[in-house]
Amino acid sequence: MAKILIKNVELNGEIVDVLIENKRFKKIAPKILENIDNAQIIDGTDKAILPPFYNTHTHAAMSLLRSYADDKELFDWLQNYIWPLEAKLTPQDVYIGSRLAFLEMIKSGTVFACDMYWHQLETARAAEEMGIRVAVGEMFLQSTPELNEMNRKNNIELEKLRGKSELVEIMLDPHAIYTVPKEILKTVAEKMKKEDFRLTIHASETPLEVENCFTEHHISPIAYLESLGLLTEKTVLAHCVHLFDDDIKVIRDTGAVIAHNPVSNMKLNSGRFRFHDCLEAGCNITLGTDGACSNNNLSMLDEMKFAALSAKSQYSSPTAGKDVDVFKIATVNGAKAFDIDAGEIKEGKLADAMLIDLNNHFMIADYKLISNMVYSADSSVVDSVICNGEVLMLNRKVRDEDEIIREAKKCCASLKNR
Ligand SMILES: [Zn+2]
Repeated sequence: MAKILIKNVELNGEIVDVLIENKRFKKIAPKILENIDNAQIIDGTDKAILPPFYNTHTHAAMSLLRSYADDKELFDWLQNYIWPLEAKLTPQDVYIGSRLAFLEMIKSGTVFACDMYWHQLETARAAEEMGIRVAVGEMFLQSTPELNEMNRKNNIELEKLRGKSELVEIMLDPHAIYTVPKEILKTVAEKMKKEDFRLTIHASETPLEVENCFTEHHISPIAYLESLGLLTEKTVLAHCVHLFDDDIKVIRDTGAVIAHNPVSNMKLNSGRFRFHDCLEAGCNITLGTDGACSNNNLSMLDEMKFAALSAKSQYSSPTAGKDVDVFKIATVNGAKAFDIDAGEIKEGKLADAMLIDLNNHFMIADYKLISNMVYSADSSVVDSVICNGEVLMLNRKVRDEDEIIREAKKCCASLKNR
């Protein structure tokens, strides 16, 4: 079992040594003097240790489609650009695209992704190989007969992976209320409760979705989801841009988790999430990047800055979207939402961490570390990343990164010609 000893690293303003053993933070002390056999020693001088990021809404393999169709309306973008190209993706493409996405995530300090996509077995395989945590789901979406059949078969295979890996969680992924009929949503809700699944769904993302929901069901999307029994503390609601006051109460009372995606919401002009109202109400807010088609990167550092700025702009107040609140939704809140016993650098917690280069120009002056992380840093400040007690990146180098880039470039070139 890997042991890691990080020497002379800054934690909450103090210089400490951090010992990782059996995947957990075993000891954190000013000096760990005893000889630790077979430990990998990491020099933490001029570095800070922080909890890493938990990205609660992504479509990892969409990294292959980055910059393919920008500056479009959501439904035009989906129906006329994204879905036709996605239909050509093979399982091998999804594997390659997922590896590209996970490389980018690791390089920017992320150790977990809640991912919604096709050919999810390949995303799970890529995550396992790269040592990153992932939640992938059985997909429910009304589409062509061929695609429905592919999803049905995929879901059977996915279910076999349940409980097999400590890095991979299998959940349920009904895509959205406008792509999944009511009867299927009801079946999914029953399955979720009976078999204790977690579930994620796009919810209240655009004005059109809300308008259509009122026309068809005479209630808001959140009320509709609740009426179907789909809101529990194991539900992760992506976007939640258009919330009524009652929706916020329902989300808080059911304990459902919000995955806030500020960059995607702004890029697609979906609207602005009521960050301050949800925070005040006591909702469980987490942060996600959405896919690289609507962002166009997967950096949680960028996402934090946009979360803070969009809150300030929305509430016409520089005190909305505070750095500490935003850092919390990007880190520990995400871990908690997925019952991962991590997200804090504390003895006994699972060893997920990132080391930040304090000599990086973005980190100077250094009056407040978290402020620098939210408002100043880009991914070049992330020096090393540890997930589940394993080093995924050391001094900015990730295993196999050259090969991952080479394969992804080849795949993108071939996609263009299909
Ligand atoms: Zn999405």
